[in-house]
Amino acid sequence: MTNPLLVLGSANADLVVEVGRRPAGGETVLGGDTVVLPGGKGANTAVAAARVGASVALIGAVGGDGYGSLLRESLESSGVDTKLVKTSARPTGIAYITVTPDGENSIVVSPGANADVSSSDVDAVSFDGAQVLTCSLEVPLETVVHAIGVASKAGVRTVLNLSPVAELPAETLRQLTVLIVNEHEAAQLAPGFDGLLQLGPKSAVVTLGARGAAVVTEEGITEVPSIEVAEVVDTTGAGDAFAGALSARLAEGDTLVDAAKYAAKVAALSVTKAGAQPSYPTAAEVSSPAV
Ligand code: ATP
Repeated sequence: MTNPLLVLGSANADLVVEVGRRPAGGETVLGGDTVVLPGGKGANTAVAAARVGASVALIGAVGGDGYGSLLRESLESSGVDTKLVKTSARPTGIAYITVTPDGENSIVVSPGANADVSSSDVDAVSFDGAQVLTCSLEVPLETVVHAIGVASKAGVRTVLNLSPVAELPAETLRQLTVLIVNEHEAAQLAPGFDGLLQLGPKSAVVTLGARGAAVVTEEGITEVPSIEVAEVVDTTGAGDAFAGALSARLAEGDTLVDAAKYAAKVAALSVTKAGAQPSYPTAAEVSSPAV
C-alpha cells in the first residue's frame, strides 16, 4: 500500500542573494550573504499537503550532494515520505536567484537531478492505495505524461498544475481529473474558464491571486473567494500551497469545491509569511478561529 497522495515533481535548493543591481555581461558585483532555501514546485506542493495532515510521498530526485541531504531533511521534517525520492548521479537542482532592491527576482534554474526523473521511476511506484496523483512541470514532460496515464488507468485521480503552460497530448488532458492553472495560464489555454473543459479534463481550477479561485465543472463555475489577509508579505509559492492543500483534501474525500475552499485558506495564510515552504500553515493554523 502506498500513501493516499503522491506528488510527482521537482526539488530544488533556492540560493538567494540580494544585489544592489544586476551585473552586465563580463561584470562582477558584490552581493549580500547567500540564503539557502528548500524549493522546487514538487517539493513545495508535497510540503504544503503534509503540513495540513496528508500522508504524502514525493516522486522525484536529488543529487548525492549536500543540497540533496538538506532537501531530504527539510521534506522529512515537514512529514513528507521521501522513499520515492531517488539519489541521482547528477547534482541537486538549484535555482540561482538574485533579488534587486525593487524586489524583482532574476532566476537561473539548473534542473540537475530533476531532469533524471523518468518513466521507469514511475513504473517502480505501486499505485495500490493511492487516491490522488498530483504533478507539476519542473521534471521531464514525458515522465509527467506517463505518470498521468499510469495513474488514471489504475483508477487514481490525477491533478496537474500546468505552470508554465506546456503542450500536452490530448489523451493526457482527457485523463486529468483536475487541471490547475492561474489566470494568465487559463487565458493562454482557452477564451473562457468553461473553455478549459473543452481541452479534456473532467474539471479545472483557476487561481485568481487575491481574489481566490474559480472551480470549473460540467455543472458550471463556482467562485471560491480568498480570505482577506492583514498584510501580504511574500506570494512566492502560493500556487504550490494551493495545489498541495487542494490535493490533500481531495485524497481525504472532499468535493472539489470544498477542497478549493480549504486550499484558498492555506494559500492566503502562506502569503502572510516570507518564503515558500517555511510559510505553509499546519491544519491547526488553518482551523484556528482567527482564520
Ligand atoms: P505563484 O506563482 O506566486 O506561486 P500563482 O500565480 O500560481 O502563484 P495565484 O493565483 O497568484 O497563483 O495564487 C494562488 C492562490 O494563493 C490564490 O488562489 C489564492 O487562494 C492565494 N493568494 C494569492 N495571493 C493572495 C493574496 N494577496 N491574498 C490572499 N490570497 C492570495
